[in-house]
Amino acid sequence: MDPFGLSQKCQEMTSPRSALVVALTGLLLAGCSINVNDRPASPPVSAAAPQASSPTHDPRLNATLYMQRSEELRRLSEQAYALATLRLGDALAKPGSAALEQSDGGQGKPPAAIFDVDETVLDNSPHQARAILAGKLEFDVGFWDEWVSERAATPMPGALDFVAELRRRNIRVVFITNRECRPRANAPADPCPQIQDTLVNLKNVGFGDVAASDLMLKGQNGWPSDKASRRMEVAKTHRIIMSFGDQFSDMMTVTRRQGPDERRTLSDAHAAMWGTRWIVIPNPSYGAWLDALPDPTTSALRTR
Ligand SMILES: [Mg+2]
Repeated sequence: MDPFGLSQKCQEMTSPRSALVVALTGLLLAGCSINVNDRPASPPVSAAAPQASSPTHDPRLNATLYMQRSEELRRLSEQAYALATLRLGDALAKPGSAALEQSDGGQGKPPAAIFDVDETVLDNSPHQARAILAGKLEFDVGFWDEWVSERAATPMPGALDFVAELRRRNIRVVFITNRECRPRANAPADPCPQIQDTLVNLKNVGFGDVAASDLMLKGQNGWPSDKASRRMEVAKTHRIIMSFGDQFSDMMTVTRRQGPDERRTLSDAHAAMWGTRWIVIPNPSYGAWLDALPDPTTSALRTR
């Protein structure tokens, strides 16, 4: 798993915290099919990031505690799905698509909603907690994959009820995740044990039986980090009425050379989508918002 979805070529072109470039839907600059939604099991740690001398000094500690122990995050996640419930009627009734790739609006096709998995419908903060306690500042794919294999992630607050509502309304529910297909030493013949792990995890926590065709992983069928091709796959047969995620890239193609101000500009360019067809789940722990900050991150602090 390449946690940041960076090809080697693109790694050579830019450092992780150098200026990030965004391409809107369909635009992949310089051939860098970079998607920032890959779930880093640990948040990205730049060369300038403080090195934790103990878990209490780990830069991820407060964010992880907020995810696990604050009523605020629990209620924020519930609010996001409650808002989605309020918006669902309009999303169905009004023409248009939540996928920028579905330029014809998908009119006449049955409805579908697209969900990211990690930190959108499943909470992986225990893994983050383990990384902190183990002093693992760098992403460790084996450590992450071990967590995936446990099938132990819990549902994000509000997600179960909303997905159940979609099913009641016969709206197709599709999970598009950058959990990556990666054979394991103990079962080398299976090219993607992460599919079954994720299906079972989703079922065990109450999302029901998810059809294999409704779960799309990175690396499966050659799908890259950029989720556009998977959205387009769904769009062939369905109108995508809403999208859910904790990252911009769950909604649109985003590449990684963009600072916070550019991210705001991009966000504003699609202002009408947020809170209507695009619903964001709060994730203070990792993601492109963090990758986008300059080195040192203190230089991004606003004092006025
Ligand atoms: Mg996610």
